[in-house]
Amino acid sequence: MKYRIGLLYGDGIGPEITKATEVIMKAAVAKTGAEVEFPVFPMGWEAIREYGDPVPEVTKEGLKTVHGWVFAPHDSAAYPKEQFAKTNPSGTMRHYFDLFANIRPARTYPGVKSRVGEADVIVLRENSEGSLPDRNMYKGLGEFMPTPDMAISLNVCTRKATERLAHEAFKLAMKRRKKLTIVHKANVIKMPGDLFRSTIKEIGAREYPEVQIDDYHIDAMSAHMVRRLKDFDVIITTNLFGDILSDLAGELTGSLGLGPAINTNDHQCMAQAAHGSAPDIAGKNIANPVGIMLSAVMMYDWLADRYQDEKLGRIARLMEDGIIKTMEEGFVTPDLGGTASTSGFAEEIRKKIEMA
Ligand code: ATP
Repeated sequence: MKYRIGLLYGDGIGPEITKATEVIMKAAVAKTGAEVEFPVFPMGWEAIREYGDPVPEVTKEGLKTVHGWVFAPHDSAAYPKEQFAKTNPSGTMRHYFDLFANIRPARTYPGVKSRVGEADVIVLRENSEGSLPDRNMYKGLGEFMPTPDMAISLNVCTRKATERLAHEAFKLAMKRRKKLTIVHKANVIKMPGDLFRSTIKEIGAREYPEVQIDDYHIDAMSAHMVRRLKDFDVIITTNLFGDILSDLAGELTGSLGLGPAINTNDHQCMAQAAHGSAPDIAGKNIANPVGIMLSAVMMYDWLADRYQDEKLGRIARLMEDGIIKTMEEGFVTPDLGGTASTSGFAEEIRKKIEMA
């Protein structure tokens, strides 16, 4: 089978880290003899300049023709006012393609200093509703200002979105240590919080009795993660809490630059690092590309499962082994205390893949 993997370079450090990922993907593809092509689609500033939209129609239509895509970070906070007022590119992708599950693992690696000893967790973030106003409505935005001095934002939780996410969470937990932690704030955000928690617990009791479930309020959970991250396995939470906790988990296990993620529905997968476009270090060739590289690894594993193609699984292993070995050797970017450049790090992995 011939595959198409889309590339969207984005803003800030996006082009540097995506090109580094492209280098190792192409090396792994060549090694396995798989047939993969990599069409590029405009997104971010480049697309605003050419099409007046950070995610133009040509990109949306193009992505309908690919099996998966690598989506770089974007600097939407710096977009022109009329663009900033709209949904940001991540939100557009997740909403338009209904990529409801955002799977964000965080684990420690040999050679990378962790703040919490060894740990291996997955934060599963609800992607389609919650309190992110640019995606929690069918039409329009979930925030408004009745007067210049009053701003109101809505928080949405539905049984349907929670149920489909819960099944993803239990399936992940069943493949791992069979522990699921629900994070919410049901003591004060009572109705959405309780609907979220009780829906997940009901599904667990009914369909996944082997999985041990506990739950915490978001504030307490932040402390527990700092104190004892290693005790957690799969963490399921709402959109905004998941955004925050996955950054926390990434930084605790080494660096925000290490955090990978995929956004999925039943038939599509978008690889996207957990971090943002880091404009403060853009263009310096020092950004850590591991987060987006490991996101691509997750995407190939997801595709291997979906298309039952072991070549895709082999691409994932070649990339992952190369990334981990390079880090183990202490060849890391400045955020991890090293001196490697973004492109130098990719080159080192490419050599390892070719020699594997
Ligand atoms: P967003 O809201 O788009 O996720 P953000 O405001 O959370 O973005 P980031 O862009 O993720 O912020 O950057 C937060 C900090 O982490 C910055 O100091 C940035 O330089 C650093 N950082 C983020 N990603 C990386 C990376 N890949 N390599 C090195 N440092 C990074």
